[in-house]
Amino acid sequence: MSAIPSVRCESCGTHADDPFALAGCRSCGGTLAVSHEPPRLRGAALRELFDSRRGAPDASGPEATSGVWRFRELILDADPPGIVTLGEGRTPLIASDAIRRFTGVDSISVKHEGLNPTGSFKDRGMTVAITHARLVGARAVLCASTGNTSSSLAAYAAHAGIPAVVLIPLGKVSPGKMAQTMAYGARTLLVRGDFDDCMRLAREAATRLKAYLANSLNPWRIQGQKTIMLDLLQQCAWKAPDWVALPAGNLGNTAAFGRALVQARELGLIDRIPRLLCVQALGAAPFAKSFASGFAQRERVKAETVASAIRIGDPASWDRAVLSIRATDGVVTAVTDDAILAAQAEISRAGIGCEPASAASVAGVRAMREQGVIARDHRVVAVLTGHLLKDPSAAAADSLTLEVDATVESIERALP
Ligand SMILES: *Cc1c(COP(=O)(O)O)cnc(C)c1O
Ligand SMILES: [Zn+2]
Repeated sequence: MSAIPSVRCESCGTHADDPFALAGCRSCGGTLAVSHEPPRLRGAALRELFDSRRGAPDASGPEATSGVWRFRELILDADPPGIVTLGEGRTPLIASDAIRRFTGVDSISVKHEGLNPTGSFKDRGMTVAITHARLVGARAVLCASTGNTSSSLAAYAAHAGIPAVVLIPLGKVSPGKMAQTMAYGARTLLVRGDFDDCMRLAREAATRLKAYLANSLNPWRIQGQKTIMLDLLQQCAWKAPDWVALPAGNLGNTAAFGRALVQARELGLIDRIPRLLCVQALGAAPFAKSFASGFAQRERVKAETVASAIRIGDPASWDRAVLSIRATDGVVTAVTDDAILAAQAEISRAGIGCEPASAASVAGVRAMREQGVIARDHRVVAVLTGHLLKDPSAAAADSLTLEVDATVESIERALP
């Protein structure tokens, strides 16, 4: 059996046989999806297989050390040689009284994807995309990025020994993300334009120059990002929560989460599907605007928000994200930058910490609780997508900082 399943257009079903043509279907322009063999095991037997890999203290290999490859049967058909992994995906589900109080939801926890190797969930998709890129002999890998994709791509490409080129909107990426991208040795092009310009350029360059496109349009990225949901369900002992909240920018995660949930129910891993709550920043909310009119039309906006990771006005995974919202009876909403920063500060005070875009999920839960869409006794998981240190300048300086003489008395005065 080949390790590489086939790739098909999600709109017209056309087989995409060129492993480098990942930006879209050549017949209709639709997004592409991996169609792998369903695993032989189902239901309890499949849950047991996944659980045994997580629990085994003496286990080795990517299926034991990676929280992505643990779910290998839902990613690829067989073990490929040379999986490119940095031990991604083993992220905690954390409960906190402060977040309970802030959101008004008694049973809320956060899934901290900021604790991945490069500090964001992007590593979950990148381990799969770069494994695929190496399998098909890519000479170079390329992405457009608001900073986290480029950090992740740079790290995984460096680990695999493949040169990386990244397109970044000039002056719009936080210093933490720039530092990572450059340290891992990616060739970094600072584009005079915004993320949407970079994305358009990356798609065109991938098609014309046959560079391997590592954005979330890449169906292998989506395969990897499905495991955020699988991992989360496993941590809930396969009892689906009522809601899963996530920040939404380019809509790759929204697409991946819906697909994972539909698959998990088909395979008998769960018996019901939680509702997705997609949260955008008010200044970058084309998907929320379209949702409000029943997705009557696709919207595009000029994006502006403090949450740079979701500062996206023309999301790439639009159609498949619509499918996710419909399949999960999902809700799309938008919150102000003030609400995002208030949630971020609260998450910091809880000792957890995340970057601004991530806090949108918690801000969205609070807003939906206030509007009565989410009930106090609903079980909710909010996904935190990126680490606090990604964007140190945006982190609320909440603690008291004092300049003091080097004396014990100054410490005494500072003790509460
Ligand atoms: C990429 C990213 C997002 C947006 O995810 P999409 O899949 O593009 O919607 C949100 N938060 C962080 C921290 C990110 O890096
Ligand atoms: Zn097509």
